[in-house]
Amino acid sequence: MIVAIANQKGGVGKTTTAVNLAAALAMRGRKTLLIDLDPQANSSISFLEHGVIARSTYDAIAETGCSLADVIQATPVPNLDIAPARIGLAKLEARLVGELDAHFRLKDKINQLDGRYAHIVIDCPPALGLLTVNALVAATHLLIPIQSSYFALEGTDDLLETIEKVRQRPNPGLRILGVVITMHDKRTALARDIRDQIQKVFGGKVFRTVIAKSVRLEESPAYKESIFTFAPDSAGATDYYSLCEEVIERVEARTA
Ligand code: ATP
Ligand code: MG
Repeated sequence: MIVAIANQKGGVGKTTTAVNLAAALAMRGRKTLLIDLDPQANSSISFLEHGVIARSTYDAIAETGCSLADVIQATPVPNLDIAPARIGLAKLEARLVGELDAHFRLKDKINQLDGRYAHIVIDCPPALGLLTVNALVAATHLLIPIQSSYFALEGTDDLLETIEKVRQRPNPGLRILGVVITMHDKRTALARDIRDQIQKVFGGKVFRTVIAKSVRLEESPAYKESIFTFAPDSAGATDYYSLCEEVIERVEARTA
């Protein structure tokens, strides 16, 4: 499975979901790769120090002579490797202007890995530009985190339109694995209304698992840990474990 975690809205939980879903998949004992496609490099910094990131996904995508294997590093999580990002990734769009294969770069580089990873999780930036399109072209599945907020569904039309375009040509096999509601506060009536609203739009695509608001999830990146070692008994750990189970279930049942 190659799963892109995308939503062009900022701060909805893409990185938190990418990091902890990747860690949960790795904990099941299969080799897993987390690819950071966001110039903000938040998922990279969740596991690595800035100083150790010499080559990044920018180099692998921009340079024909650089492979993903050249930039991949191990994380402290067993079975989990990362292709880290750096701020320079923001220049990629300008760098690839006029290149006919601009949308296929990541897919080609993933293909060169020759199935070394059972699962690949791609953390996308908050935009629908070339980087997110590269992820959607390379992915077998898409997972959309939606924040439990009054503005939750703003912009999802544009996201769905982009998905349709990608499906028409470069990647007809792309499946929507599901929508996960994040930062949910089940005590409030508003949060319940928002959940109903998201359910109305996405129906059965919405995961049963809802990610609750949890301070532990905010803290764990500062300690370079996933939620499963940082706070194994927290709601965040339980929620992301259960999301991972549901993801596997859907992929295996081919219902996505
Ligand atoms: P961006 O669009 O900037 O890449 P993002 O969609 O990747 O953002 P995150 O970075 O995962 O979003 O989350 C935004 C902020 O909310 C972060 O500070 C993160 O720690 C926090 N956060 C994410 N999920 C939760 C949660 N379930 N409970 C509490 N805080 C959360
Ligand atoms: Mg992010």
